[in-house]
Amino acid sequence: MQINEDLIRNVVAQVLAEVERVPGSANGRAHGGRHGVFEDVDDAVSAARDAFEQLSRRPVADRKRIIEIIRRISIDQCVELGTMEMEETRIGRLEHKIEKLKTLGERTPGVEFLEQRKEVYSGDYGLAVIEHAPFGVIGAITPVTHSLPTLTGNAINMIAAGNTLVVNPHPSGKRVATEGVRRFNEAIRREVGIDNLICIIPEPTLESAGEIFKHRGISLICVTGGPAVARAALNSGKRAVVAGPGNPPVVVDETADLDRAARSIIRGAAYDNNLLCIAEKEVFVVSSVFDAMMKAMERAGAARLSAGEVDKLTKTAIVQVGDGDKKHDIPSKDFLGQDAAVLAKAIGRSVPQQTELLFGETDEGNPFVPVEQMMPFIPFVRVRNVDEAIAKAKEAEHGFRHTSIIHSSDVRNMTRMGRELDTTLFVKNGPCMASLGLGGEGYISFSIAGPTGEGVTTPLTFTRERRCSLIDDLYVLGKQEPRVPLPEPKQGGGT
Ligand code: NAD
Repeated sequence: MQINEDLIRNVVAQVLAEVERVPGSANGRAHGGRHGVFEDVDDAVSAARDAFEQLSRRPVADRKRIIEIIRRISIDQCVELGTMEMEETRIGRLEHKIEKLKTLGERTPGVEFLEQRKEVYSGDYGLAVIEHAPFGVIGAITPVTHSLPTLTGNAINMIAAGNTLVVNPHPSGKRVATEGVRRFNEAIRREVGIDNLICIIPEPTLESAGEIFKHRGISLICVTGGPAVARAALNSGKRAVVAGPGNPPVVVDETADLDRAARSIIRGAAYDNNLLCIAEKEVFVVSSVFDAMMKAMERAGAARLSAGEVDKLTKTAIVQVGDGDKKHDIPSKDFLGQDAAVLAKAIGRSVPQQTELLFGETDEGNPFVPVEQMMPFIPFVRVRNVDEAIAKAKEAEHGFRHTSIIHSSDVRNMTRMGRELDTTLFVKNGPCMASLGLGGEGYISFSIAGPTGEGVTTPLTFTRERRCSLIDDLYVLGKQEPRVPLPEPKQGGGT
C-alpha cells in the first residue's frame, strides 16, 4: 500500500493534539463519560449496562446498522488509525497495522453469522427453537500487539450477538484504542441513537483489569494476551473466553515444495514483524532437505545469519527475568516487533532496509526456539526425520494448542502432526494467516481462544443458548399425558 508517511504523521499529530483537548476522549483531562470513555470501572460498567438495555429493546436490524458503522470507520480510517497505532506502540509495520484494521472491518463475521445458525425442531409434540441470546456486558482485555484491531473485532462479534463491552486495553496501546472507541460510539450515537455500546478505561492498569474480572455487572470476560493474563482470567471465578499465547512451530519434510514453503514462512513470520500470535516462530527441517531449504529462504528474500551472528542476536535480543525456579527467557522490549534491519544493525550486520526476515541455523536449545520472540528472526533446526521434527515441534509449542504449520506433500505426515500437536489452528502448505481466511478459507478474528476451547471467536462465542418450546394442545396439561401418544417405554430396561 503506497502512503505518504509525512502527511499521515502530521494528521495523526493534529488528531492526537485534538484528543488531548476534547473532554471524554483519550488522555483528556475530564473524560466525563462521553462516547464510551470512562476513568472509573464502575461508571463504565453501568454505562455499558444501560447501553445493553437500550440495545435489547432495538430490532436486530439496528445491530446490523451498528456493525456497519464500526466496519465503515475501521475501513475508511484505516490509514489514520493504523498510523496512530504505529506511532503509539512503536512495534510492527505500518502497512500491516493499516491492513489489519481494514481486513477486520471487512471480514469479521457479524449478525449474519448467527442467522445462519438457527436451529428448529418441529414434530408431533410441537416446536423447539434454539436461540442465541446475549450475555450482557462483556469485559475485554486487549493486547499491545494489535490494540485497536483486537478491540474492533471483539466489538463487532460481541455487539452482533447483542452484548455491550468494557475494554481494558494494554497501557502501551491505550490512546489509539480510546480514540477508536470514541469514534465508533460518536458515530453510532449520531446514526442509531445509542451511546456507550463500547466502553473503555483510558488509563488502564492491572487493578482496573482486576476490577473488571470481579465486577458483578460483567457477565463474561474475554482476554487476549500472554500467559499472565490468561492465568488471571482462568482464576477469576467468572466464565472466561481466553485467547492465550502461542509459539507456532513449522515442520518441513523431505516431500515439501521448498520454494513455496520459504515464501509462506517469510509471508507469515515477517507479517507485522512477527507480532501475530499465529505467526511462524521456529522451523524444524529434516536433514535431507535442510541445506536446500536454507537456500530457498535466501532465494525468497530472507537474510541468513551466520552461527556467530545468531549467537550475538540471541545474547542481545533475548533477556532473562525472574529468580530461582521462576527464571525464564523473554524477548527484549528493545527488539520486540522491530524491523529486520534494526535487529541486524544491533549485531553489526547491514541488510537492505526492505529485508523482511532474518533466519539462521540453531540447535533446539537456542532460546529463540522455546521463546515467543515476536521479532523477525526465525531459528531453523536440523532434525533427522519427520518423527523427530513433529516431536520437537510439539515440545516447542508448550502444549498451548494454539497454531502449528507443516509443509509437506505426504498426507500421512500431515495427519500425524495434526494428531500429535492437536492445535486450534493447523495450516498445511501456506502461511499462518491462511488459517484466519487471509489467503485461505474461513473468517477472521484476532482472539483465538485455545485454552477455553472456543477457537477463532465469532458472534456465536458471545451468546448463551436458550431453548424456546411450543407445546400448546399437543400435550394435555394437568393430566400429564400427551394427546399424541408418547412412545411406549422399552421393556426390561434399567431404572
Ligand atoms: P500481555 O499479556 O502483556 O498483555 C495483554 C493484556 O493483558 C494487556 O491489556 C495487559 O495489560 C493485560 N494483562 C497482563 N497481565 C495481566 C494480569 N496479570 N492481570 C490482568 N491483565 C493483565 O500481552 P501483549 O504483549 O499485549 O500481547 C502479546 C501476547 O498476546 C502474546 O503472548 C500473544 O501470543 C498473545 N496473543 C494471543 C492472541 C490469541 O488470539 N490467542 C491474539 C493476540 C495476542
